[in-house]
Amino acid sequence: MADGAFTYADGRVEPGETRNLRYAISETYLGEPVQLPVTIRNGAQPGPTVFLSAAIHGDELNGIEVVRTVAQDWPDANLHGTLVCLPVLNVPGFIAQQRYLPVYDRDLNRSFPGSETGTSADRMAARLYAEFIEPCDYGLDFHTSTRGRTNMLHVRADMDDPDVARLARAFGSNVIIDGAGPSGSLRGAACEGGTPTITVEMGQAHRFERGFIDRALDGVASVLAEYDCHPAEPVRWPGWRTVVSRDQKTWLRADAGGIVEMLQDRGDLVREGDVVCTITNPFKTETVRVTAPFDGLLVGVLENPVVYPGNPLCHLVELDEPTIRAYERARNGTLPKRP
Ligand SMILES: [Zn+2]
Repeated sequence: MADGAFTYADGRVEPGETRNLRYAISETYLGEPVQLPVTIRNGAQPGPTVFLSAAIHGDELNGIEVVRTVAQDWPDANLHGTLVCLPVLNVPGFIAQQRYLPVYDRDLNRSFPGSETGTSADRMAARLYAEFIEPCDYGLDFHTSTRGRTNMLHVRADMDDPDVARLARAFGSNVIIDGAGPSGSLRGAACEGGTPTITVEMGQAHRFERGFIDRALDGVASVLAEYDCHPAEPVRWPGWRTVVSRDQKTWLRADAGGIVEMLQDRGDLVREGDVVCTITNPFKTETVRVTAPFDGLLVGVLENPVVYPGNPLCHLVELDEPTIRAYERARNGTLPKRP
């Protein structure tokens, strides 16, 4: 992009230009193109190229509205650099309103960086990776919880990589879960390929949740401020923050099948020994109480009230005492100053 234009196989987008395009990444059984909706916003001023993507799991909708809003509704003035907006990555899954690609239930988010000669999923991944991910300097990939569960807004990022850590902090979430992206994931492949990328998790599948969408838009503005893409916007400090390592989190799983009453919500603080939920049989004659094994925050909880033994009930991350105090001050409206 020496001349400032964003180029892809079918064309180029000049500085100061915004283009909505439909990019063919596969073909249907009828031989018609499967087209990826893409908006390229190339700012009048030079700067980094950032991708924003959503619905790589086809039923995870909150991020679609975040990416569409950035693509269509944000003012052009003062944009330094280029935004590559990909509101629906998994087009066949989105049309079917399901998580995976409908053919053999393949997970598009385990197919990266893909292959031009592989499965249909591999080929889709390879095309969209080469055209719209690889040319970017940074990326944000938006997800929700899997169907039947919900989670609070949080970021997942490989904090061992300083470029990824900078991006993760810039988003301004309270919780960052540290770890490399799974093998074959868009995040993992992009980070390995030289495009520092984070995932943002928020809410539940099959819904637009306005509160999360608005907070994520604040996060995007904060990231763009960090990299001087939108120089007028301030970088956001969330009031308190915890970076959670692999050994500071656990999934509480059901040890009995039954009907679940969830007593806590996503984002709630629980103390060791607090009852998080109960599991009862159909007659309410047996009750299993599920308790928190340590002080922490419920990042994700079950919404669907039925479980088999082994099903996840909630995702709990450990908080230390200073973070708990900051969390409580934030809840009381007395936010601490930025350290
Ligand atoms: Zn997902």
